[in-house]
Amino acid sequence: MSGVPAGALRLEIDSEALAANWRALDALSGGAPGAPRAGAAVKADAYGLGAAVVAPVLLEAGCARLFVAHCGEAAALLGHVPAGALAVLHGPRDPAEAAWLQATGVRAVINTALQARHWREAGGGVCDLMVDTGMNRLGLPLRALGEAAGLEVDVLHTHLACADEDSPLNEVQRLRWEEARQAVTHRRAAIANSAGIALGAAFSGDMTRPGLALYGGVPAAGLAGVVRQVVRPRAALLQVRTIAAGDTVGYNGTFVAPRQMRVGTVALGYADGYLRCWSGTGAMRAGEARLPVLGRVSMDMTVIDLSAAEKLGEGDWVEVDYDLPAAAEASGLSQYELLTLLGRRFAR
Ligand SMILES: *Cc1c(COP(=O)(O)O)cnc(C)c1O
Repeated sequence: MSGVPAGALRLEIDSEALAANWRALDALSGGAPGAPRAGAAVKADAYGLGAAVVAPVLLEAGCARLFVAHCGEAAALLGHVPAGALAVLHGPRDPAEAAWLQATGVRAVINTALQARHWREAGGGVCDLMVDTGMNRLGLPLRALGEAAGLEVDVLHTHLACADEDSPLNEVQRLRWEEARQAVTHRRAAIANSAGIALGAAFSGDMTRPGLALYGGVPAAGLAGVVRQVVRPRAALLQVRTIAAGDTVGYNGTFVAPRQMRVGTVALGYADGYLRCWSGTGAMRAGEARLPVLGRVSMDMTVIDLSAAEKLGEGDWVEVDYDLPAAAEASGLSQYELLTLLGRRFAR
């Protein structure tokens, strides 16, 4: 039997840029070869890139700690990375999860008094602890730190609400984190996500947890010259045609050709995460040529203007314009959403 054909959508992951981004963020975190400070958030399938591809690259670069949100995400990675490198941010939500974390050796991050109880009742042992210092999302509140008594805490975490802004809350949270470090016995402490790393050495702690910037996102001006683009979505042309002045393109005929034009239909649509917000505003590329989106993005297809690339034909590939900071600016979507939206039909 022959294999499944390769398909018309490819997500190109630049492994070298990914590794370089991790090394740069590690250095900014105060890390050094052999003594890494930066972990990596690989939750949500490494922000949509494919955790099974991303995780080994990061470990090879020197990263020693990978954060997922759910136990199921850790389970899916166990064939690819050692259990001891994985940590589950959502923590053991019930006794079954606590038992599973114990059995596999995947690190539990304890977030609540109940999770602490599940952990102790499952046998206890080394865990991480997430403390809430002002985001009010997930983590033990400062007033409840007593609930952590007796836990064997490796990394004492907290998470910043406004790291990508010049907000007074950053320093407030840092001071509360210092307070928690005094109150809870622990080996190491962590506060910074990608943007937090750009806040400077006071936010490095013993470990950082970058996510977005590893994958080419630029959440803070300080990272602009540091982070390289990692993700390049590519799609194949399904059909090429010449339309006349006055012809319309796509659903509801929102684009009306001002002149005769050569246009191409690309196998990429909103079901792939190329949302309708790109209708009439997005663009693809072929080399240096910019190929604007014409009319509405449909579920599985988008029509583009081929005027700048007359040689392109059916079966040729184009690259989606997906430099994250620029794409976020153009679309109104966040850089996080732009990554995590990219659908399962992309070959990774
Ligand atoms: C997702 C997440 C991160 C990574 O954040 P980025 O902004 O993507 O760098 C770090 N820490 C925690 C607790 C997270 O949930």
